[in-house]
Amino acid sequence: MKTPFVTKEQLEAIATQYPTPFHIYDEAGIRSNARRLKEAFAWNPGFREYFAVKATPTPAILKILKEEGCGCDCSSMAELVMAERIGAAGQEIMFSSNNTPAEDFRKAAQLGAIINLDDLTLVDALEEAVGSVPATVCCRYNPGGVFTLGETREGFQVMDNPGDAKYGMTRAQMAEAFRRLAAKGAVNFGIHSFLASNTLSNEYYPTLARLLFQLAVELKEETGVHIAFINLSGGVGIPYRPEQPANDIAVIGEGVRKAYEEILVPAGMGNVALYTELGRFMLAPYGHLVTCATHEKHIYKEYIGVDACACDLMRPAMYNAYHHITVMGKENAPCDHKYDVTGGLCENNDKFAVDRMLPRIDRGDLLVIHDAGAHGHAMGYNYNGKLRSAELLLKEDGSVELIRRAETLEDYFRTVIW
Ligand SMILES: *Cc1c(COP(=O)(O)O)cnc(C)c1O
Repeated sequence: MKTPFVTKEQLEAIATQYPTPFHIYDEAGIRSNARRLKEAFAWNPGFREYFAVKATPTPAILKILKEEGCGCDCSSMAELVMAERIGAAGQEIMFSSNNTPAEDFRKAAQLGAIINLDDLTLVDALEEAVGSVPATVCCRYNPGGVFTLGETREGFQVMDNPGDAKYGMTRAQMAEAFRRLAAKGAVNFGIHSFLASNTLSNEYYPTLARLLFQLAVELKEETGVHIAFINLSGGVGIPYRPEQPANDIAVIGEGVRKAYEEILVPAGMGNVALYTELGRFMLAPYGHLVTCATHEKHIYKEYIGVDACACDLMRPAMYNAYHHITVMGKENAPCDHKYDVTGGLCENNDKFAVDRMLPRIDRGDLLVIHDAGAHGHAMGYNYNGKLRSAELLLKEDGSVELIRRAETLEDYFRTVIW
């Protein structure tokens, strides 16, 4: 069972001031989770989480994470500027992009960000864009093939296909990139890799860490460069379904520590810093999309129409992703109605749930769509002339703050030349 972090009474009060649909985030939950992550990697003195800004590009959220010691992992000009505006500076910013425009490299270099190169050709492109190669630089590795984890959990298997992914460099290119970068003056090197998304296994990070630690030892021997950090990137998942077991970040941190002790320490590399770039794990459970049931329809199936749509949360439409739904005030009612819960787009995939067993829903009921805190509002769009919804923050003291207002028609028309 998933329990919302707000009560029906709280939501009803909030909705009188901020009409549905809206996203709401839980400050206390975000902070305590960030602290658990930090604690799990406290054994590594250089550890830092660089929050993947693309998951929740909302300044108020980035500021909370900054207070918890997190940096910003950016992938575009807008994300770099957002990091700058919340006061992140220098090596608190990681720039992990691909197909990178020259001006983005210039902005990242101007901020003193750590630049993570996605491809061998970007070594020269970076130098051309910036005029020189920064002292600290990172390269993204793609081992190719198929990535699987030995350990699987009930109903979930970790398998991904790096060989089909557009990201990163081959093994040979990694060595070549390090040599060329060293020749151009780089002195501190990092290794980055992202092999699987939304993993529900405590073994993902330790397995990835082993692979990257081994690679670090080899690259150090082959190229003679100083490897300063290893970036495990994102990919630690969350249980979207109530019956799925959650990852245990303390167990994950301990698994990575073991690999570190076994591989890096004996190679004389016991001072390598570890970085993560988590997005979903940091935010998804701490955001709800709150929407109101506005219509019902009885044809060949039973439909409940809500005032949110895929423009507010694209994951069900795009990935067929499961998002749990709580009908507020009916938490203990029997789930004896089978519904499709739909938005109003002229797209039949605009459904938050298909054939979902839920309590009877009446018009006016408030629905909480869970785990919308990452890759939720962030993936919003304006199809069918839908306006982007507001974002609210439930603060630790129980008060609610507007952190992004809802879009207006004027916003929507702003770029039009009539
Ligand atoms: C998307 C992304 C992340 C975050 O991924 P999550 O699955 O949200 O943890 C981290 N690093 C890079 C380079 C990414 O593209």
